[in-house]
Amino acid sequence: MESTTMRRRFDSVEASAMVSDLRVTFDSGKTRSYEWRASQLKALTKLTEENEQAIVQALNSDLSKCETEAYIQEIAMLKNSCKGALKELKRWMTSEKVKTSISTFPSTAEIVSEPLGVVLIISAWNYPFLLSLEPIIGAIAAGNAVVLKPSEVAPATSSLLAKLLGEYLDNSCIRVVEGAVDETSALLQQKWDKIFYTGNGRVARIVMAAAAKHLTPVVLELGGKSPAVVDSNIDLKVATRRIIAGKWCCNNGQACISPDYIITTKDYAPKLVDALKTELEKFYGKNPLESKDLSRIVNSNHFGRLTKLLDDEKLSGKIVFGGEKDESKLMISPTILLDVPRNSLMMREEIFGPLLPIITVDKLEESFDVINSGTKPLAAYLFTTNNKLKEQFVMNISAGGLVINDTALHLAINTLPFGGVGESGIGAYHGKFSFDAFSHKKAVLYRSFFGDAAIRYPPYTNTKMRL
Ligand code: NAD
Repeated sequence: MESTTMRRRFDSVEASAMVSDLRVTFDSGKTRSYEWRASQLKALTKLTEENEQAIVQALNSDLSKCETEAYIQEIAMLKNSCKGALKELKRWMTSEKVKTSISTFPSTAEIVSEPLGVVLIISAWNYPFLLSLEPIIGAIAAGNAVVLKPSEVAPATSSLLAKLLGEYLDNSCIRVVEGAVDETSALLQQKWDKIFYTGNGRVARIVMAAAAKHLTPVVLELGGKSPAVVDSNIDLKVATRRIIAGKWCCNNGQACISPDYIITTKDYAPKLVDALKTELEKFYGKNPLESKDLSRIVNSNHFGRLTKLLDDEKLSGKIVFGGEKDESKLMISPTILLDVPRNSLMMREEIFGPLLPIITVDKLEESFDVINSGTKPLAAYLFTTNNKLKEQFVMNISAGGLVINDTALHLAINTLPFGGVGESGIGAYHGKFSFDAFSHKKAVLYRSFFGDAAIRYPPYTNTKMRL
């Protein structure tokens, strides 16, 4: 018999009752007013500001994420997004007047943003605080009722989110359901007005199939193999530090926009490897497994997955830096591999960890074919001072986002959409794009009774046709 202290399983009956409840509240119009939306965004800011230490602790417990990364990459980003949404909310909610055509003269028209209804947000473990609340900002700003399902792979953050959202936000419209596959499946059986999912492509297919049953639109924030192309005409020290910042300073490589692999020329690769080694040693010391500034691998499954990538026999002798691991601490050190074969396991799937393979080509232009022969990545990076190459990269590389001469920072620009293309995702968010992701753009045409043209109506005579 199940112990009474065990958490009761959330099933589809409960999920259905929850959605019905939220739909009643949504239909009452409560979430539509500017005042409600602003009050919830303010409450979210307050929640974050008053609980910074608890958030840092939860992130540390889930990933041994260091305080600086937790603060800069999750807490400060969230506060900034909340502040931005509050500042822009009135403008976002204002309908947009648009031109009309001679065929409807006289008339006026506007685009009205209306909330979609009751929406589901399913988030991932690697930035468990930010990836849960950033989409909620958009859902609230757009006037929806929301259910959040945080990732069970980051349990401390998941339970903190459930507690804090319960305390700070309006629970007649905003709920949290904790749990794993069973709970998410129960939620996915319901009819939602939008599903916003962050995670891997395999589960994205399950989400999209469930959404299709109800013709529910989806945003899918996925991953992929994000390349960094490195030219030889660069400031090597700065480029190297920025590659490290996007890889190991982001959750020890467990970030969707971390550079997954590097492409450079055969001639330049040894210089690049040396520079990476030098900077990595400066950042993490001689024994990175002891560094307090590196996150651990999230759990033993992912540790095993990454170890398997390293154990691929095609990689023997390819490790040129790192490769140390400590299973008891779930730590893997920053690891660089040179001349990794394209048919190795490491080059066939997203790495999502501290391993950085380098592929070499004769001419840098060949990197375009290497990238375009794979699925479209979430991000692609280029380090060069060659303007022609920059232009060609922007024109020829399809990815969710591109950054020239840096990594990952496009994520912090709220005027840029953040999302994937092809296998790296569907839809985008951040800033106004989050508001739009959770709004329906309603077309409204206004006419008066003046100027009723007879040409519209039968009988359709030749004279009318000539007009
Ligand atoms: P995860 O294991 O936390 O799973 C994501 C969510 O899916 C969780 O809430 C989980 O409960 C749910 N889930 C898992 N299996 C399910 C199933 N069978 N049915 C229904 N729901 C299920 O996270 P993950 O997938 O390991 O995340 C890593 C992936 O996410 C990487 O590919 C990464 O690139 C991508 N990612 C993308 C972004 C982005 O913003 N584009 C951000 C972070 C991570």
